[in-house]
Amino acid sequence: RTDEPWRPFNRSRVYMADLESTLDYSLRVELAAHSVFSGHALVSLKKYISVLVKARLALCAVWQQMPPSWDPRHMEPVVSQYFPGRPMVMNLLKSLNSWLQDQPGDEISYEALEKIIDNRAQSPNTTLPQGARWVGCQGSQPHFRGYPCGVWTLFHVLSVQAKKAEGTDAKEVLSTMRGYVHHFFGCRQCAEHFEEMAQKGLSEVNTLSAAVLWLWKRHNLVNNRLAGALSEDPNFPKIQWPSPEMCPSCHSVMENGEHRWNQDQVLSFLLSYYSSQRILTDYLE
Ligand code: FAD
Repeated sequence: RTDEPWRPFNRSRVYMADLESTLDYSLRVELAAHSVFSGHALVSLKKYISVLVKARLALCAVWQQMPPSWDPRHMEPVVSQYFPGRPMVMNLLKSLNSWLQDQPGDEISYEALEKIIDNRAQSPNTTLPQGARWVGCQGSQPHFRGYPCGVWTLFHVLSVQAKKAEGTDAKEVLSTMRGYVHHFFGCRQCAEHFEEMAQKGLSEVNTLSAAVLWLWKRHNLVNNRLAGALSEDPNFPKIQWPSPEMCPSCHSVMENGEHRWNQDQVLSFLLSYYSSQRILTDYLE
């Protein structure tokens, strides 16, 4: 839409409105391009929704009470969600997940899936707001940014949340995204590039931290390839992210003048930047 008012936002924060808009576009537009899901596409769809609703009980330090030596009595169990959505959105995703897991056949039509999304969405406690409301992913022109920006943001949030939830499978989120992009992402050229990257290095990811960093590195490779391209929003130039202004300790310069990333610092930065506690809820309906 071209008549939407500009929504002022903080460029160094993540917005729930972008995540919800991404899910809305993914479930109501991108998946709708497929009349039937079967075979690997159906497996990928089920995996995608099940990762979105996944939550794990993780032990968290009660920092105020932390003594100098670690003591299990100072850890408390908290439920960590991979997708830290609002309760009404989580209710919709959970009911969609239960319905999908219960389908006995080896084919599901989009029509049937849409009915579940729309029927459940009639209750105010079980709904995903309809229509895009980009905030941090707004473009200076309607054809810039928006959904692809939202997809990266969702993927980074999921990889960081899986790490916080102490997920048991290091590749779970990345392989789910790989499946989603391969089967459903509307930009087919992007999907081919992403698949090439996944084939090259995904098998070497063995820890949840490595998964967070893998995605960050691949996103920077894409940024590098697209810097200066026609698809780049001039108001949001593609950079090697995070910039030194955002994270000074992430960067260092070696004696020979070469730039080096401090990956431990990058990891801490990502864990904080994409953490559920920092997601802003401005502009939500
Ligand atoms: P985006 O690159 O979409 O980034 C969104 C936000 O993520 C940024 O605003 C920033 O806050 C943050 N960010 C930036 N870099 C990183 C990083 N390294 N780690 C963590 N966070 C970061 N377009 C093409 O033309 N060709 C392609 O081959 C292509 N492949 C794609 C593959 C995938 C999987 C996806 C999701 C998108 C792809 N795109 C491709 C789209 C492209 O990458 C951008 O999403 C689009 O151009 C919009 O750019 P943007 O300025 O909103 O920033």
